[in-house]
Amino acid sequence: MEMSNLQDLLVENLKDLYSAETQMLKALPKVAKKVENEQLREALTMHVKETEQQVKRLEQVLGQMGEKPGGKKCHGMEGLLEENKEMMEEDAEPEVMDAGLIVGCQKAEHYEIAGYGSAVTFAKLLGNQEAARLLAQSLDEEERADKKLTQIAETTINVEAADSSDDAEEATTRSSGRSNVGGRKSSSSSRRSSR
Ligand code: FE
Ligand code: ZN
Ligand code: FE
Repeated sequence: MEMSNLQDLLVENLKDLYSAETQMLKALPKVAKKVENEQLREALTMHVKETEQQVKRLEQVLGQMGEKPGGKKCHGMEGLLEENKEMMEEDAEPEVMDAGLIVGCQKAEHYEIAGYGSAVTFAKLLGNQEAARLLAQSLDEEERADKKLTQIAETTINVEAADSSDDAEEATTRSSGRSNVGGRKSSSSSRRSSR
């Protein structure tokens, strides 16, 4: 595809996001089904609903530009979701599984946040206020979904995952630093996933 200006780049970015969102739409319900924690399942299920709206917004924005979605596969999201799938196939304690899936979902959210953040900036620079407004709505939803996951991880799941490693392996796990999926609320490993 010819990319001679910022408008072309915006269209490519939107098509990439469209592919990312439709992949998420297929994958998220499977993750929601897999998790044990009820609060986490609710958050993921709510984000499926939001993702449906985000797909529609992208169709709307592209349509307004005289473009249509399709013809582009988001390999970034494909890879992130593949990693989530690998996690789901692990033989893990439920709370460790939940902690691992939160990490995977947050990586996907951060990817989307980067895509929408740039798209909003491009739309504004191009003077397309309507596109900027719609894309900013999706950006806001992604950021809130990400914060919600951090909150669930820090208040319950990471703490439970840390406890399960206490039971299984005692302090050796923590001192060797192998249990970096969960981590105690006050430890640096839990702070790493909090933003
Ligand atoms: Fe999304
Ligand atoms: Zn992509
Ligand atoms: Fe999202």
